[in-house]
Amino acid sequence: MKVKIFSFGLIATFYALCIILIQGTFAISQAKAPWIEQVMPSFASEPVDSVQVPILTYHYIRTVTNPKDVLGARLSVTPTVFEEQLKILRDEGYQSITLDDLSASWEGKYTMPKKPVILTFDDGYDDFYTNAYPLLQKYQVKATAYIVPNFLNKAHYMTSAQIIELSKSPLVTIGAHTMNHVDLRTTNKRTSMQEILGSKMVLERLTGKTVHHFAYPFGKYTKNIVKAVKNAGFTTATTMERGNDHKTIHNFTVTREEIIGGAVQQNSPLGDSLEKFKKSILL
Ligand SMILES: [Zn+2]
Repeated sequence: MKVKIFSFGLIATFYALCIILIQGTFAISQAKAPWIEQVMPSFASEPVDSVQVPILTYHYIRTVTNPKDVLGARLSVTPTVFEEQLKILRDEGYQSITLDDLSASWEGKYTMPKKPVILTFDDGYDDFYTNAYPLLQKYQVKATAYIVPNFLNKAHYMTSAQIIELSKSPLVTIGAHTMNHVDLRTTNKRTSMQEILGSKMVLERLTGKTVHHFAYPFGKYTKNIVKAVKNAGFTTATTMERGNDHKTIHNFTVTREEIIGGAVQQNSPLGDSLEKFKKSILL
């Protein structure tokens, strides 16, 4: 019995000491002594587990006139609807951020605005330059354009000169999307590396800027492809899977929300399509 009381006393003393110590440390950190800020990293720079931000996927910003082109229409948002969507983002208080901001927020080095949103455009179609970019400038919205280098200067794709011009804009981030838009699940190791690393290097040489972000063609990948993208030196890679919650550990399988335009051209239910758009940005 004596032993029990003695050990209880010891434990109680230990806890009391702990509380005093914790309170003391708290008081010191509250006081913000200059030395303590140097030794103790501030809470804001602690890495975080996940961040919430809708990442929107667009392909074409154009009007499809051929009613039989169902796939083309599905992948296209008309310039008018795109402008309405940008107005919604503005009116609802959304602030566009970059994929670099997303990476920095995972590291605790960037504080997200209240309502962040990321816009991405796949494949490098010429209407990004002619239709999307002027509207991005008008509403001062940031976006990432994932480029396929071997498609540059071909019909319906942007030119090298346009990519150089866009890369100089503070609104546009140039990302890579392989050299030839291949399904990376079907290529051998050597080809995959040429497609992944090659697209990074060619775009870096063209723009004079480091390319940090990658998008898997068709959103498809395997475990080994993820490794290859990581080894190539990218910091993020996006898929076509859905979701607005971005876990730090999933920085090479980042989910997005595809903005589908098909029904808009065929039935013109502008209100309906914008309601769907609102749903895709809801956190
Ligand atoms: Zn693509």
